[in-house]
Amino acid sequence: MSNTYDVINPATEQVVKQVREATVEETDAVIAKAAAAFKSWRNVTPYDRSNLLRAFSNKVREHREELAKIEIENSGHTRGNALWEADNVANVLNYYAGVPERLYGRQIPVAGGVDITFKEPIGVVGIIVPWNFPMPIAGWGFGAALATGNTVVLKPAELTPLTAIRLGELALEAGIPEGVLNVVPGKGSVVGARFVTNPTVRKVSFTGSTTVGKGIMAGCAEQVKRVTLELGGKSANIIFDDFDIEAAAASAPGGVFDNAGQDCCARTRILVQKNVFDKFMEHFEKSVKAFRCEDPNLDTAGMGPLISKKQKETVESYIDGSVAFQGTAPSGPGYWVPPTVLLPKDTKAKSWQEEIFGPVVSVLPFTDEADAIEKANDSIYGLSGSIFTSNLGRAMRVARAVESGNLSVNSHSSVRYWTPFGGYKQSGLGRALGPESLDMYTETKNVFFNTES
Ligand code: NDP
Repeated sequence: MSNTYDVINPATEQVVKQVREATVEETDAVIAKAAAAFKSWRNVTPYDRSNLLRAFSNKVREHREELAKIEIENSGHTRGNALWEADNVANVLNYYAGVPERLYGRQIPVAGGVDITFKEPIGVVGIIVPWNFPMPIAGWGFGAALATGNTVVLKPAELTPLTAIRLGELALEAGIPEGVLNVVPGKGSVVGARFVTNPTVRKVSFTGSTTVGKGIMAGCAEQVKRVTLELGGKSANIIFDDFDIEAAAASAPGGVFDNAGQDCCARTRILVQKNVFDKFMEHFEKSVKAFRCEDPNLDTAGMGPLISKKQKETVESYIDGSVAFQGTAPSGPGYWVPPTVLLPKDTKAKSWQEEIFGPVVSVLPFTDEADAIEKANDSIYGLSGSIFTSNLGRAMRVARAVESGNLSVNSHSSVRYWTPFGGYKQSGLGRALGPESLDMYTETKNVFFNTES
């Protein structure tokens, strides 16, 4: 028997909606439906599949305000972020709508015949989505998976299922056939775990914590199931003395406190060259105190609440005696934590090493380029990071030396839907977005044709 549970608005602690969570049997039934739909979806002509994805993209764009409103209520995202996230789904679908007509193989010279490779769909793909960016992470998975001819079963996080449910309805309204994109709300330990164990699911794309990701990878190994993982991060923001320190301090809060720090790319470790450390901290205090943590419906909001009481408690457990200064946050109902800056003793500190996933940043000095690189790489993670310098050669050297999948020089941007995104080390396996993602959702088949018989 399936149960219903309450979905909560994290800014008010009020119930937004009740949602039914799927059982293992119901999950299996949806997987079977996706497998049946795969037989015809993979043979939809490139022209028609492209047009269907474009229609889906247009449908999402028409509903951007509605989707954003749902996300503000369900996830506490600021209005600006929520609109960007809805647009991101539309943009990703539009980008991958160009794929069916361009999914090229190769012709490789061989003796005695012709050798051709084909990029073929894998089958039913299971996409497991976390609560921090419910819309974009779902879209990055289903955009590439559907374009390459797979069908999808998608499990949103229990805390934030509402936009995914609506996106599933919009897909049908746009003409995507029944069974091609299936949203299955429910528990990770039930629905998500079944994606791993049910052999009809041929690939799992997981985004979430490194701990759960390791378990999924181990589970997939049983069936040599394809798996991609987008996991945690502890990204460094490296600021050299040759850069405008006031400008670096002004941009640093946005690089870490956006989405209340619940971002795998958050620049949670700031490294500042020693001779400009005090100057940086002076300006940083001003910019942190000006960063507005408030009702996410307000256009002025820089960040909203955390997603849950549990997440608030976890984050608060890292706020120890090393606090340098804090911003402000609303009191009363809601899971609020103010922007917080720590000055840990050294790189061994728990707050420096562990992913906190909240509005908490640590700052340490470094002496020179080599020290900055060593400190930045002293982490099990390698997802993102920023380098602020006016020296072009240094920017290039440090960008090549930092062990991370996504770096930005003199900015904090991480994600563009047409460039690859993913992690080094324990931040993940494989890449989302850009052309690279197509390899994550296809098998390469090689066929030799004998021309001499
Ligand atoms: P989880 O890794 O537990 O959840 C991510 C997704 O995986 C959710 O949809 C969850 O479902 C599902 N899931 C959980 N357990 C299993 C399982 N055994 N098999 C299959 N799927 C499963 O993250 P949490 O929500 O617990 O967050 C905890 C911490 O993880 C955060 O504090 C943060 O540090 C990190 N995190 C990192 C993210 C990132 O993008 N790097 C994203 C989210 C969290 P359900 O939630 O419904 O149980």
